[in-house]
Amino acid sequence: MFETAIAGSLPKPAWLAETEKLWPEWKSSGAELDRAKADATLLWLKVQEDAGIDVVGDGEQSRQHFVHGFLAKVEGIDFEHKVKMGIRDNRYDAMVPQVVGPLRLSGRVHESEARLARAHTGKRLKFTLPGPMTIVDTVADRYYGSGKEGRIKMAFAFAELLNQEARALAADGVDIVQFDEPAFNVYMADAAEWGVAALERAAEGLTCKTAVHICYGYGIKANVDWKQTLGDEWRQYEQIFPALAKSRIDQVSLECFHSHVPAELMRLLDGKDVMVGVIDVASDVIETPEEVAATIESALRYVPANRLFPCTNCGLAPMRREVAEAKLAALGKGAALARQRRGG
Ligand code: ZN
Repeated sequence: MFETAIAGSLPKPAWLAETEKLWPEWKSSGAELDRAKADATLLWLKVQEDAGIDVVGDGEQSRQHFVHGFLAKVEGIDFEHKVKMGIRDNRYDAMVPQVVGPLRLSGRVHESEARLARAHTGKRLKFTLPGPMTIVDTVADRYYGSGKEGRIKMAFAFAELLNQEARALAADGVDIVQFDEPAFNVYMADAAEWGVAALERAAEGLTCKTAVHICYGYGIKANVDWKQTLGDEWRQYEQIFPALAKSRIDQVSLECFHSHVPAELMRLLDGKDVMVGVIDVASDVIETPEEVAATIESALRYVPANRLFPCTNCGLAPMRREVAEAKLAALGKGAALARQRRGG
């Protein structure tokens, strides 16, 4: 009961990459960088296990950014000539690569880190990939054509590639493949109309569990400012969850603690496992086990205990390492407290 998980990313140690940045520069290159990425992955597996996290991940230590890490192995993308683009409906600018031709995987994307993690933990292993709609919102297009039709076509092209990699990850021994779709909370109508279908294409035929993570973004200033404009009640999920409830995706990860998401919206996910965000990633204040247990208990009004997985609101990548470590410990302790109170 109340098995804990993390949304995905964790901070990179200072010897691996720049700290507290969303697109950090690596500190080394070649074989030395590969070794450093592997070391950081092993380190975070140990920290997660020690914190009592039940479903662990690689902390995305081997990719610079959760979207561009996948794109690095996609042919048809020009990384040499990045352009500035407003992403997430112009919430903030990012330097993004351009799609310039038909998309194809040049090989495996995350084989080495998935196999490394699998070899070094007996816990259940979750692996994250960006969702097709979020990828489309994080690249510039010069090939598929402007307008909605072009975006949909490009999303399904990416979904096919994601599916190839996801199937291979399952074969590597990954227990859960999670697709990250923060764009769902920005383009709700599109998400319901075609985003969920593209997501299902990415998850097609997977023998392992499938999950989707939908949040209000990392705890960076642009996102914190955006949240201020969303009013007292954040009802974005209300437009997406019904389509997700009908989908074949097994688990949904959502933002809860310190958000203005009305908790009753979780009812719309009837039949799904729900990863409830009980750790705030936009604040350095460490949650107490009591606070974590209280969030779990309030979610229990809408999610059955056997489907409730306490989780972080989003990835912890831009945080300070010691803050992230303390937050993981709080997650583990809070879930243990909630379990103890229910006699489980
Ligand atoms: Zn997130």
